Amino acid sequence: MRPTGRLHIGHYHGALTNWVRLQQDKECFFFVADWHALTTAYDDVSVIGSSVWDMVIDWLAAGVDPEKSTIFLQSRLPQHAELHVLLSMITPLGWLERVPTYKDQQEKLSGKDLATYGFLGYPLLQSADILLYQANHVPVGEDQVPHIELTREVARRFNHIFGREPDFEEKARAAAKKLGGKRDKQFFDLRTRYQQDGDKAALEQGRALVSDSASLSNADRERLLGYIDGSSKRILTEPGALLTEASRVVGLDGQKMSKSYGNTIMMREEPEALTRKIKTMPTDTQRVRRTDPGEPERCPVWQFHQVYSTPETREWVQAGCRSAGIGCLECKQPVIDAMLAEQAPMHERALQYVANPKRVREVVEHGNERARVVAEQTMQDVRAAMGLAY
Ligand code: SF4
Repeated sequence: MRPTGRLHIGHYHGALTNWVRLQQDKECFFFVADWHALTTAYDDVSVIGSSVWDMVIDWLAAGVDPEKSTIFLQSRLPQHAELHVLLSMITPLGWLERVPTYKDQQEKLSGKDLATYGFLGYPLLQSADILLYQANHVPVGEDQVPHIELTREVARRFNHIFGREPDFEEKARAAAKKLGGKRDKQFFDLRTRYQQDGDKAALEQGRALVSDSASLSNADRERLLGYIDGSSKRILTEPGALLTEASRVVGLDGQKMSKSYGNTIMMREEPEALTRKIKTMPTDTQRVRRTDPGEPERCPVWQFHQVYSTPETREWVQAGCRSAGIGCLECKQPVIDAMLAEQAPMHERALQYVANPKRVREVVEHGNERARVVAEQTMQDVRAAMGLAY
């Protein structure tokens, strides 16, 4: 997550609740993407430094557990930059130019000069972030799926080019001879049909030929399986996208919740401020007087009820609003109560870190060290594969 300021309840429901769930039975890595923030905020860097620690406190407040998950800071691990630059050697420019967010973001942030090398390359930096940890899954929203797809393509290309024993080709050819009879010729025909024409049936036949052969050692069998599909030994793991539902939390005005619209409720909002914000937020504009019936579908408060209220409360709102049986302040109270209840444990968990900022830094330093072990292991394999281990 990029450090762009304190987090609001849209972030909480859109990402953090999912992170907290994932850490229960998965090995998770969560990091502050401070270099990513620079790709668009390079002209105002002050916000990055001031946001990093607040954001980590918000994660901890949400229940991300530093004992279960690895929490770290991207810029403290130069391996991210190293893998990025090495992957850049093999990534065709066209792959980056066709990532949809490249053009979208340039149009959206038209006041900013984003015709930079860093901005074009940020999806590749993201690929490095993922591949360093051999991640099987990345929790992302729909808009990030093309980035995961790019990462898979980059990993595949890397494995194809570098994931080989130095004399792999000769060893594979010698192994094919051991298939015996005319089976080696058949194997090479099937391989050509798959690799040149993309014939998947040929790939399956070739795999069966290799798997069924009793004359091969395990090492030769693995070689031939890698030789026929072009993967050979895999150094980088191709990740999958773990789709996260978009947050259903709207802003106080019914639009998308965003700091730039001034319609947010923060994750650790002061109770008085939270209560005031909800009490003064707009309702169905056609319900002018208390005696006018209203329509929840036209009211942003109703959208909060959909996230925060029980089915019984929602029924009470619908009936009471449409019949003018309840007033808007009355209707808002269960939302206020539910938000305050949700935030109380967050305030409590954050307390020790707010009181002692050194603790937050310790959590991140500990995470940096844990992440470094995994990242360095991958980099040793990558350097060796690229002929840099001298
Ligand atoms: Fe909105 Fe509730 Fe008022 Fe209806 S009663 S307009 S749902 S705040």
